Order: sequence, then structure tokens, then C-alpha cells
Amino acid sequence: MKTSEKRARLTAIGAALKDLYPDAECALVWGGGDPWRLLVMARLSAQCTDARVNLTSGPLFDRFPDAAAMAAAEPSDVEPYVKSCGLYHRKAEDLVLSSRMLLTEFGGRVPDDMDALLRLPGVGRKIANLLLGDVFGQGGIVTDTHCIRICGRLGMYPETEKNPYKIEKILLGLMDPADGPAFCHRIVWFGRDVCRAQNPACGVCPLAAKGLCEKRLREAGGKRKNG
Ligand code: SF4
Repeated sequence: MKTSEKRARLTAIGAALKDLYPDAECALVWGGGDPWRLLVMARLSAQCTDARVNLTSGPLFDRFPDAAAMAAAEPSDVEPYVKSCGLYHRKAEDLVLSSRMLLTEFGGRVPDDMDALLRLPGVGRKIANLLLGDVFGQGGIVTDTHCIRICGRLGMYPETEKNPYKIEKILLGLMDPADGPAFCHRIVWFGRDVCRAQNPACGVCPLAAKGLCEKRLREAGGKRKNG
């Protein structure tokens, strides 16, 4: 597929997803208040479900309500609260160290630029893009597991491509970056409801019905050839 065709298809996909999920918001329920909470929840979500993180964050924020409270703790104080999210030694350490850095270097506030965010322990481009998009209204792509899997199936790049940074750049070249945050939230919901990692519901998929899925088109073409 030519780049211009991919761009047109991605625009159509974005519109179809908007019809399906007009009000899709971040699956991490952080309350829209202190951005530090979204940072914490995003760090906890690595190799964990958003539902688990949402459950965990209530007691965690009751005990550590802001960056100052977290910065004053030791990782061992935090571990019991985040244990159910997995990788809890590392996550607890990152939460404490990043909170301390916010206080010592950023005046206690979550910074609004990529380079500064990437200096925080445990923060990579995925978390940084989520914060920049949802908190600071900047465009960007959050290349999480749903985005990587689904946009590959849709034909934006080979399905074997799994490099998040490469995928971020490819998608940014195919869409208006300002549309990225909402697109990525919608992709997450679509990935749970329809285009699941295992057993995707291709037979009832609204994107397939519109001829927008490369994987489905390929499979249909193969069947025609063999049949
Ligand atoms: S047709 Fe199947 S693989 Fe393609 S987007 Fe729909 S659910 Fe995913």
C-alpha cells in the first residue's frame, strides 16, 4: 500500500472508531486532577491490566496522596500497595525516585515536555506521550500493546513490526498528531471489545465491514484464490 493510501485508510479508520467510541477516554481512571496520579498509574500499568491498576490506585492514593508523600516514603513502604500489579520492587522504586525527582528538579510538578519526562525513572515514551496528550493537550501516539497489534493488522506496517518507537514515527507520518491521543484511547477500547490479541472478532468487525482491515482483506483474497 502506498503512503497516500495508508493515510486515507487511517483517516477512515479514525472516523469509524470515533463513531464506535465517541467519548473514549483513558482506560486509567485517574480523575483528571493531579497529573502525578496519571504518571503513577501509567507506570503501574506495565505488564498489568488497566482494571487492576484502577483497583490498586484507590488504597495507594489514600496512603500516598501526592508526589510529596510518595517522595518521603521508601520503596519498601510502597511495595505492599502495588504488589498486585506485578514487577512491584521495580515499580515501587520508580514511583519513589520519580516523585523525589519531581520535587527536587521540577518544583513538584509533572513537566510538560518529552525530554524532561524521559528523565523520570520508569518513564518511557509511552507514558510521556500519554501525559503530554491527556494532561497537556499535545499531540502524540501512545504505542501500547493494543496500538502495536491492531495498527499492524490494519496494514499500517508489517504485523511483525513490534518496535514502539518505529511505530510511533510511522503513525505520526500518517495522521495529524493532534488526533493521536483520542485515536489511541479508541484503539484500546476496540482492542478489548473486538480486535483482541487472541480470537479477534473479525466476523463482526465494523472495520472489516468497511474494507479497512488489511489482514482481513488478505485472508479473504487467499480464500478466493484457494476456493
Ligand atoms: S477484521 Fe479482525 S483483525 Fe481486522 S481489525 Fe477487525 S477484528 Fe481486528
